[in-house]
Amino acid sequence: MTRHAHQMQRHTVVLREIEVLRSERLTPHMQRVVFGGAALRGFLSASPDDHVKLFFPNPQGQLALPTSGQGRLEFPEGVEPSPMRDYTPRRYDDEFNELTVDFVLHGDGPASAWAEQAKPGQHIGAGGPRGSFVVANDFDHYVMIGDETALPAIGRWLEELPYGVRATVLVEIPGSADRQMLESRAQVELTWFERNNQDAATSQLLEHALERLPTPAGDTFWWIAAESSRARRMRQHLSDDRGVPKEWVRATGYWKAGGSDEEA
Ligand SMILES: Cc1cc2nc3c(=O)[nH]c(=O)nc-3n(C[C@H](O)[C@H](O)[C@H](O)COP(=O)(O)OP(=O)(O)OC[C@H]3O[C@@H](n4cnc5c(N)ncnc54)[C@H](O)[C@@H]3O)c2cc1C
Repeated sequence: MTRHAHQMQRHTVVLREIEVLRSERLTPHMQRVVFGGAALRGFLSASPDDHVKLFFPNPQGQLALPTSGQGRLEFPEGVEPSPMRDYTPRRYDDEFNELTVDFVLHGDGPASAWAEQAKPGQHIGAGGPRGSFVVANDFDHYVMIGDETALPAIGRWLEELPYGVRATVLVEIPGSADRQMLESRAQVELTWFERNNQDAATSQLLEHALERLPTPAGDTFWWIAAESSRARRMRQHLSDDRGVPKEWVRATGYWKAGGSDEEA
């Protein structure tokens, strides 16, 4: 059997209207929102690396949701479309039909602003996941590196890793109060890096930690999620300076400094 074969699963895109059931401040910069509603039934997320597109009320306070026509999103005419942003399904509980999403409160942007005020009974839209990249589960070691936007994916991944797997985790957060309790059956070595007022886009804490990190013994999968140019530089370090095969790295820009993350 081929070693380290990742799987790409495609799902039929479902657009849903979902309802806030609960909302709580996990840490100073993270709001946990739990969604429910009949439309959520059948929600499927095969990988911690998945994302859903969430649609928030437009500046007029309306939820102007698209329909999925001809493989692309079509918004209703004559109203400003709902802004959409990518979020990780932190957990889906199919028994209770509850989807948990952890939102970073970074102070700016429709998603962050909405999450800060989220209350039971409010509705937003959710599309997807469209696909799941399922990382091979037969690596000797997993290295996960990310800023606070990656924490939902990392937290979920650690919960899903089986007993005996080894993982090294480097997480950058705004300050010490933003640390979270992360559970895992795996053998995890986790280090928190606190920015303490440094800018999230220009901090180099993760880059320096990665440069100092010895390559673990055995076959290692590297997962990176952070601000786009930072994620790209860390991927480059792995390929150029360490010769890590590109199939053993997944580096994703989770947000872009100085611009909205809205896609066309
Ligand atoms: C696959 C994927 C999964 C993701 N999962 C999550 C998740 O589970 N939780 C989560 O919180 N985020 C997640 N993100 C990141 C999230 O989509 C972006 O941070 C998004 O830009 C937030 O939208 P916004 O409306 O709050 O801000 P935007 O309108 O997009 O941006 C407004 C301003 O804020 C800046 N900005 C955006 N995000 C940040 C940030 N995190 N820190 C500092 N400045 C920022 C932008 O540069 C811009 O100047 C994910 C992204 C991807 C691609």
